Amino acid sequence: MPQQGMQVFSAFRGIDFIIVAAFGAIFGSFYNMLIYRIPREISVISPGSTCPKCGHRLTWKENIPIVSYIFLKGRCAACSSRIPLRYIIVEIVTPLAFLLAYWRHGLNSTFFMETIFFSLLILITFTDLETYLIPDIYSIGGTLLGLLLSGVNPIVTWRESLLGAIVGGTILFLISFVYFRLRGREGLGGGDVKLMVMIGAFTGYKGVVVTMFVSAITGLMAGIIVMVRKKEGLSTMIPYGPFLALGAFVAYLWADKLMEIYISFVFS
Ligand SMILES: [Zn+2]
Repeated sequence: MPQQGMQVFSAFRGIDFIIVAAFGAIFGSFYNMLIYRIPREISVISPGSTCPKCGHRLTWKENIPIVSYIFLKGRCAACSSRIPLRYIIVEIVTPLAFLLAYWRHGLNSTFFMETIFFSLLILITFTDLETYLIPDIYSIGGTLLGLLLSGVNPIVTWRESLLGAIVGGTILFLISFVYFRLRGREGLGGGDVKLMVMIGAFTGYKGVVVTMFVSAITGLMAGIIVMVRKKEGLSTMIPYGPFLALGAFVAYLWADKLMEIYISFVFS
């Protein structure tokens, strides 16, 4: 009978992944509300979800993650104004992040730490893309969480977490300071510096180094694409937070591997 036991177990494994994904989608839907409301300083508790254009209060049928967006064809049921694509993107990316953490760890304290970290990166990415702001509640709050949760963080000790926060903040502060002195205007904002403090708290000083590389390369590529398409030259403003967040994600998962590859290249 052990075989049958295995089958029941594997069927159960399938169901738990679905439950994790569903929770992820619900959280994603909540994050969409935060992305809209936090920078505008609207209460996140009440009222419930409304259309930003006409104020229509969403019914529960219009508020099911992913499903409602598809059935409403991306439009408000009352005024039929477009619901930004960001809503469905966040409702898909968040469950994927939750599934990744669950697949890596199962349901333990590291899973919670990891979903918190990934959630912060999602919130920061989409808030910065829309408003060019990184709210302190994410970056400073996230730094505190990164330090507090270092005990269940698989890639840093609490010392490395603290050192990462200090190194991350210092490096980005110096870069933004030098840039400001050379160009006479702000290239990296204070929000980016505070975000890097948070990233350091979650990924350590090695993570800071990898985040710097990945964000510089991807940010430069995106910058070139935007410049060519908009023909605005160097004055084109693109938020840097999403690239730092992407870098942090890569660093969290693969910092050690990437450092190994890099060192073997340099010293071979
Ligand atoms: Zn509407």
